[in-house]
Amino acid sequence: YKINMDEFELLEELGKGQYGTVQKVFHKPTNVTMAMKEIRLELDEAKLNQILMELDILHQSQSSYIVDFYGAFFIETCVYYCMEYMDAGSLDKLYGEGVPEDVLAKITSAMVKGLKFLKDSLKIIHRDVKPTNVLVNREGEVKLCDFGVSGQLIQSLAKTNIGCQSYMAPERIHGGDASTYTVQSDVWSLGLSMLELGTGKYPYPVPDKNERVGLFAQLSAIVQGDPPCLPEDNFSAECRDFVAQCLNKKPQNRPTYAQLLEHPFLKKYEDVDVDMKSWAEQAYSSRKDLLKQS
Ligand code: ADP
Repeated sequence: YKINMDEFELLEELGKGQYGTVQKVFHKPTNVTMAMKEIRLELDEAKLNQILMELDILHQSQSSYIVDFYGAFFIETCVYYCMEYMDAGSLDKLYGEGVPEDVLAKITSAMVKGLKFLKDSLKIIHRDVKPTNVLVNREGEVKLCDFGVSGQLIQSLAKTNIGCQSYMAPERIHGGDASTYTVQSDVWSLGLSMLELGTGKYPYPVPDKNERVGLFAQLSAIVQGDPPCLPEDNFSAECRDFVAQCLNKKPQNRPTYAQLLEHPFLKKYEDVDVDMKSWAEQAYSSRKDLLKQS
């Protein structure tokens, strides 16, 4: 069964990404509200077809920690990727001044389980772990999106620039080629994301738009500097140790997902019932971007 543009009613724009917009849409044949991501690519039809084929493996398996995939199609040189609509949006707009440790534990647990699922069941590494790519709904569920399923899509996107906040591990910055990218690089990005969620701030210097010198300073700090850590006042020793282990500069010394799931930080909150639904609703209603508009 192939979905196509005629089956959708366009509702509203949810956000703009690097390669196109994300729209809230209504799929008329199934009565399902979805998010449709447009990815603008300058590719020939053969390559676009290859991308659709590669995305197809997403139909075979599901996880409650991964945003559901409903299908994709292309028009001219744009790929349209249809996925589960997450009505509280991405974490970058929800963390505010920083999330409390118990909420951070639940978010982290979902992220690790999602990443482990991608690796074990789909044999893929995410490659772009960051708060923007973690979505939340108002039930309080936390799921990953934008992972590297399609090799062709990864290749086609790789040429463009990297944005002004890098979540890349040190070894990726000086290595550069794809062979230096292992699952351990995602563990670094996980640690960096947790630090940002916990403190409410990206920990490295952020340059102004397109300022090359500033970007160089940021990347040097990642490669040369000591890794950042969570402050002692708001976070327990277990929590800080978890982040410190992820942010080990030597990739081979970072824990595996199985080890992270056994870490005292996640164990400590495993049986704690954190009210994620209330947190998500509250965070959503005080979202930075919504406040700005009013
Ligand atoms: P980027 O290119 O920066 O990763 P995206 O293009 O993935 O950004 O997404 C842009 C914005 O659209 C996100 O910040 C998020 O707020 C929103 N968005 C993306 N996917 C969804 C979804 N499945 N449900 C709800 N909102 C989404």
